[in-house]
Amino acid sequence: MTKNGFDIENVRASFPILSREMNGKPLVYLDTAASAQKPQSVLDSLQDLYANKYANIHRGVYELSATATSLHENSRKTVARFLNAKDSREIVFTRNATEAINLVAQSWGRKNLKSGDEILITEMEHHANIVPWQIICENTGAILQVAPIDDRGVLIINTWEQMLNARTRIVSFGHISNALGTVNPVAEMVSKAKANGSTTLIDGAQAVSRTAVDVQDLDCDFYVFSSHKLYGPSGVGVLYGKTEILENMPPYQGGGDMIKSVSFKGTSYAEIPFKFEAGTPDIAGIIGLGKAIEFLTTIGINEVEKHESELLRYGTRLLEEIDGVHIVGVAPKKMGILSFMIEGIHPHDIGTILDQEGVAIRAGHHCAQPLMERLGVAATARASLGIYNTTNELDQLGHAIEKTIDLMS
Ligand code: PMP
Repeated sequence: MTKNGFDIENVRASFPILSREMNGKPLVYLDTAASAQKPQSVLDSLQDLYANKYANIHRGVYELSATATSLHENSRKTVARFLNAKDSREIVFTRNATEAINLVAQSWGRKNLKSGDEILITEMEHHANIVPWQIICENTGAILQVAPIDDRGVLIINTWEQMLNARTRIVSFGHISNALGTVNPVAEMVSKAKANGSTTLIDGAQAVSRTAVDVQDLDCDFYVFSSHKLYGPSGVGVLYGKTEILENMPPYQGGGDMIKSVSFKGTSYAEIPFKFEAGTPDIAGIIGLGKAIEFLTTIGINEVEKHESELLRYGTRLLEEIDGVHIVGVAPKKMGILSFMIEGIHPHDIGTILDQEGVAIRAGHHCAQPLMERLGVAATARASLGIYNTTNELDQLGHAIEKTIDLMS
């Protein structure tokens, strides 16, 4: 038990993969920002569905289909409760956070954007919150505006605010940066964007697993995340959207499940959220996401936040004390991510040598090339934290970094 009452041994025991060895060493998994490992309850739910309860949903009148449908729709309710959405119809299942942003960019964007309108993002966005907007800009003649960050990796909020103007139709920003860990002042940003009459989208891919999110409190119009970073299966994403806004958006993709009736004279669409869910979804993945949320909720998201904050403090101090290591991204409000460089050693070499020590980190541009360019680096090494990490593991990271420096100097 740590001092906040969070039982780390119990948590670790829930993740079978953590007992694996990597290159003859105990696995130290520090790449949760790329994708989180899965607890046994999520794995069991996949096995149980396929072994005992599987059928397509929303179609069959037979019992198996009804069971699968109700498990699937219960998962939607679980997600709605998790985000404190007003209504589970505000939860649209997609393939991932990326598809959720593309859905908004294409569906909301085609209806609401015209030439000269502006979309405001920030310099620290993941490609998923850049490229979909560039595409809709090409389609509509809208203009992508990018608010700057400072050298610590903090959004320059005054400039961001000054960039809001009468043409700013939508404002989209990350809750937590995947490359730097910067936590943006999302509530303040939503409130300023709303006062300006702009629609708001928050990319919560790195936030939902680390901190409590209440979409009614935030009052954002859209919030997106991926199941696989929330200890759930890959292949599933979530778009939260306010009822009135979703209802006024045209479908994103056409096909089965998203229609009321189809004829060659014309087709009418289903109600939300089904209007946006064409074709057979990842039924097992969606049910698994519900289980992942139950797992996290049982532990308590506030406990998770405390645990990860302690780890981040510990890891930051540890890296600061190693000669030649330089932390990239030093925002005062930061969560979950430790990006770093070692003088004279390429991040990919760091990643490769750490792997020999059983330590899995990410090396690269973290799908944030414009951010890397702004910071004047091609890539960083990134250790990212999860619910299952320990200070011992961070010590192992520290030893592996020291070994890397010895080997390469
Ligand atoms: N936004 C952020 C902040 C992310 O970290 C990621 C994943 N690295 C994404 C969006 C995209 O997530 P996915 O690849 O699951 O769609």
